[in-house]
Amino acid sequence: MNQPTPEQPADTVARLRATFRTGRTKPLAWRTGQLRRLRDLLTERGDDLAAALHADLGKSSTEAYRTEIDFTIRELDHTLDHLDEWLRPEPAPVPAHLGADATAWTQVEPLGVVLVIAPWNYPVQLLLAPVVGALASGNAVVVKPSELAPATSAVLARLLPAYLDTDAVAVVEGGVPETTALLAERFDHIFYTGNGVVGRIVMRAAAEHLTPVSLELGGKSPAFVGRDADLSVVADRLVRGKFLNAGQTCVAPDYVLTDPETAAALEPEFTKAVEALFGADPSTSGAYGRIINERHFDRLSGLLGSGRTVVGGATDRATKYIAPTVLADVDPASPVMREEIFGPILPIVTVPGLDEAIDFITDRDKPLALYVFSDDRGTRERIAAETSSGALGYGLPLAHLTVSDLPFGGVGESGMGSYHGRWSIETFSHRKAVLDKPLG
Ligand code: NAD
Repeated sequence: MNQPTPEQPADTVARLRATFRTGRTKPLAWRTGQLRRLRDLLTERGDDLAAALHADLGKSSTEAYRTEIDFTIRELDHTLDHLDEWLRPEPAPVPAHLGADATAWTQVEPLGVVLVIAPWNYPVQLLLAPVVGALASGNAVVVKPSELAPATSAVLARLLPAYLDTDAVAVVEGGVPETTALLAERFDHIFYTGNGVVGRIVMRAAAEHLTPVSLELGGKSPAFVGRDADLSVVADRLVRGKFLNAGQTCVAPDYVLTDPETAAALEPEFTKAVEALFGADPSTSGAYGRIINERHFDRLSGLLGSGRTVVGGATDRATKYIAPTVLADVDPASPVMREEIFGPILPIVTVPGLDEAIDFITDRDKPLALYVFSDDRGTRERIAAETSSGALGYGLPLAHLTVSDLPFGGVGESGMGSYHGRWSIETFSHRKAVLDKPLG
């Protein structure tokens, strides 16, 4: 039997643009209808997605639901609850010289056809949460799942067309050649999540068409631990945040920054926390994931020698297992401190005190997240005032991104633009300025 020829990227974009021009995607009813269908997909086919996430990343079903499927449902529900209000025109005060009868306001309008390029580490959430914003804003959308999570990519390519308006939503699967071909097309916005090297490729391609971009990138997110902190609580929260998805989380605490005495006192707490969460042998824990592929396994294995092992260190290439590992006595110049780790290795770096910690952070790229474990007001305020990061989390890693009305995004090398909740509407819409001066 003849297979139908796959649609070329130019034809996909032209087809979606034709739909957009009809005005079909603009009414609130179309937008909320699509969001409800997406919700149906997640509730009816959640187990298909969870199975794919297990195949790609060894994610447990609990983790798949918590961090990907239910996460996206919450984003959908929050958007459905507030969309009407977010789309309302916002009045602006008018200066006196225009007369008392003049009025002004801003009004959001959709951009057109947008492209969402997703990575492999949370391949459902990081593809669908931007799609929620794109559809809520009334756009047509092309999505490109990551080829490095092939099972999830295949399920999304099968399910999205079954649930959503195929004249307005298209899935393009593939890797570098397919993405390169897509990037040659003109979009009205490109939303890219992944690494900074490809982020630059995306931005260069977008520049050809003057297309605005959101770049959701990564980097080394520090966790500063103050002398006053309760170290068993700190270790427990850091271990949960760091080793979720085997450390393959863009906002995972990348390294611990603290003074030498606190570092020494933290070591046994980390050992206890890892054992409490994953047992004496984490390779047998159903709650602990695996590394995405051999390339990343080899890269991470090479970083294990960057310090003294406090806990963990075991690896198995056949199953792509790397134990939750904490390293002490880590030299800031060592390999593990030269790149984003993006895996289950937590180095502890020591500095004499707060001044040096702040210098350490500000000497490096602005991180996607910065975590502070201290109840000391002076410490908290100084770090907030003297450092810059995409987000600042006091006392709890990762959780800020579950607060729907906080913008999620980076700054500097960790990215540009933001999304989630109403911030997604700002990203995927144009806010048009309107002035009305009656003719009478
Ligand atoms: P990846 O390899 O899956 O790449 C992301 C996307 O880029 C994929 O869809 C891929 O097909 C595409 N791509 C790869 N090479 C390309 C090329 N040469 N031209 C065009 N497109 C190309 O994922 P990754 O980059 O390894 O993801 C990990 C990085 O992403 C980490 O740095 C992490 O911190 C960051 N990240 C950021 C966020 C965030 O929300 N800020 C979330 C997750 C991951």
